[in-house]
Amino acid sequence: MQEGMRYACQRCGNCCRWPGEVPITEDETARIAEFLGLELYDFVARFTEVRRNRTGLTIREKENDECVFLDGIECKIQSVKPDHCKGFPNRWNFPGWRKVCEAVPVALEQPGDAEKAK
Ligand code: SF4
Ligand code: SF4
Repeated sequence: MQEGMRYACQRCGNCCRWPGEVPITEDETARIAEFLGLELYDFVARFTEVRRNRTGLTIREKENDECVFLDGIECKIQSVKPDHCKGFPNRWNFPGWRKVCEAVPVALEQPGDAEKAK
């Protein structure tokens, strides 16, 4: 990526549909539980599972591999979604990600403006 540019999310929802972990920190876990009006234990039991490497929690997936919080192309926990979600594709991505993400390069408007809007 050229300096002064970032990728702007086009809200296609693809990154919430492919299989894979969505790690959440302890702080994020508490924040999402509160947002949903759930006790921490209740939220953890219903919406998370232990990561494959046993280092923490990941958000559960539906049977079709979508994130359990994806509703159409909307994130049901948008205002408290994990940093992992905010960071793609500007802070992390993977080989071949451009084939599955519709984000487009745009000028970076101001320092720190590197998060996707979705
Ligand atoms: S980050 Fe990419 S894959 Fe995810 S919703 Fe935005 S455009 Fe789609
Ligand atoms: S928490 Fe929201 S943004 Fe993150 S993968 Fe799930 S639906 Fe997508």
